[in-house]
Amino acid sequence: MVDRQLRARGIEDERVLTAMGRVPRELFVPAGLRARAYDDAALPIGADQTISQPYMVARICVELQLHGGEKVLDVGTGSGYQAAVLAELAGEVHSLERIPALADRARAALDAAGYAGRVHVHDADGTLGLPGEAPFGGIAVAAAARQPPPALLEQLEPHGRLVIPIGPHHQQFLRVYVQTAEGAVDFAAVPCRFVPLVHDG
Ligand code: SAH
Repeated sequence: MVDRQLRARGIEDERVLTAMGRVPRELFVPAGLRARAYDDAALPIGADQTISQPYMVARICVELQLHGGEKVLDVGTGSGYQAAVLAELAGEVHSLERIPALADRARAALDAAGYAGRVHVHDADGTLGLPGEAPFGGIAVAAAARQPPPALLEQLEPHGRLVIPIGPHHQQFLRVYVQTAEGAVDFAAVPCRFVPLVHDG
């Protein structure tokens, strides 16, 4: 996976490649799909949601530019896989999921993979962020929105980065928002396709 799917597509960040090599992805997919855990694809995890394709998980991590030690927010826990990879790259990860059954399964998988102490899964609407733990050195969102949720931009540290798929259902770009003294500046990374970010309001 690391050589064929990541290096071959231009992922060069050695910290990210090492992190991707360390997390046992098979623990984060449903038992019946274990044989396909390292496929070059997103896979269903129930509740109409998916575990993201390995390349997209790696790309999000590259764009966050973490150095270790940061407090990171992960919106859309899903399987918990992205949160585990982030835990390899940062100091502490808070992950938000709006579907309680997925949050429960992710907690169990993170526990089995040895990440229980470093990743905290919260049942919450991620569009609101997690004000009690803010600010964050990086925020990763695994579901697509039309605009970056204002609460997430507000909860970034200076120079902190928000990485989020922006756009309609079939045509999204992974965008990166960097918090500066003049406000957030943004640029686009790669085309992508994620499930929608649902606002529970
Ligand atoms: N990062 C996940 C990808 C999961 S797919 C992984 O590695 O497996 C995106 C997830 O975002 C889904 O589980 C979906 O339920 C969740 N989601 C969508 N809108 C959300 C919201 N407003 N708050 C929290 N989670 C949300």
